[in-house]
Amino acid sequence: MQTKPNILLIYTGGTIGMIKDFETGVLKAFNFKKLLQKIPELKHLDCNIETISFKKPIDSSNINPEKWIEIAEIIEGNYANFDGFVVLHGSDTMSYSASALSFMLENLNKPVVFTGSQLPIGDLRTDAKENLITAIQIASLQQKGKPVIHEVCLYFEYKLYRGNRTTKINAEHFNAFASPNYLHLAESGVHLNVNSHLLMQKQAGKKLVVHKKMEGNVVIVKMFPGINESVLSAIISIPNLKGIILETYGSGNAPTEEWFIQTLKKAIKSGLHIINVTQCSGGSVNMGQYETSSQLKKIGVISGKDITTEAAITKLMYLLGQNVAPAVFKTIFETSLRGEMQ
Ligand code: ASP
Repeated sequence: MQTKPNILLIYTGGTIGMIKDFETGVLKAFNFKKLLQKIPELKHLDCNIETISFKKPIDSSNINPEKWIEIAEIIEGNYANFDGFVVLHGSDTMSYSASALSFMLENLNKPVVFTGSQLPIGDLRTDAKENLITAIQIASLQQKGKPVIHEVCLYFEYKLYRGNRTTKINAEHFNAFASPNYLHLAESGVHLNVNSHLLMQKQAGKKLVVHKKMEGNVVIVKMFPGINESVLSAIISIPNLKGIILETYGSGNAPTEEWFIQTLKKAIKSGLHIINVTQCSGGSVNMGQYETSSQLKKIGVISGKDITTEAAITKLMYLLGQNVAPAVFKTIFETSLRGEMQ
């Protein structure tokens, strides 16, 4: 007889577990146990659910690498006893956290599904119930007693995405996330349709490795017409800065002005890693396609290809935390490690 899958629900905070303070109208995190009381339907799911909560649940604007480590350690400590993990998290920074965890959890052979909601669980029109119930069902999916999904995903409003391909696109609609450069992994309709050919393959025979060092001395610079030398030089001179995600125009284009190229060249020479990521929500960096990007290629700027900014900054933090040798840093960054780029 097949046993029911064991699912661990990890509550970090976010709207999904918040209530309104009716005096002030402000949303505040509340006791996680009450979340389960609010959804008696969970008892009818075909799995065993256990829950664990951050001591102090947070609004996801307060997430940081220490808290990512906390999530990773909960998964590590419970990995042997559970078949899948559902992480309840505020939607604001969920794509950053899902991306970070995808890098921190190497050789993941079980599903880690992030979800949350736009409206609190107690709200009449809440999206929390559907998101939570389906996320648990997805984490429970098994074939011949083994999990179907082996990666960090994000489930929101009827779609399951690869976590490190997502970005939050809307603060109003229930449909809050997009995965512009990678098709959704599954869709929930009358049936739960999984696009099996898009899933990460199982890492046969490999043991989970949890990486807990994330470098904090990094920055995201978004290009805009008018960015000047003193601003860019000041950023590049930040003490101990190790890497920059440079959000460029279109397919990776930036000004051809001498001061601009020279400033970046100097920075790369001094050991900084500069990664070219597009400001466009979809599409890819292709350095060398235009004159405005061929100089960047020449001076050693790293191509972020079609990576999201969220995945780029967390990949940078992760690789710097790994002390990857400068000689191979570019090659490794430009390689897909967890399906985050083409
Ligand atoms: N501010 C909330 C958070 O990200 C929004 C949400 O939960 O969706 O924690």
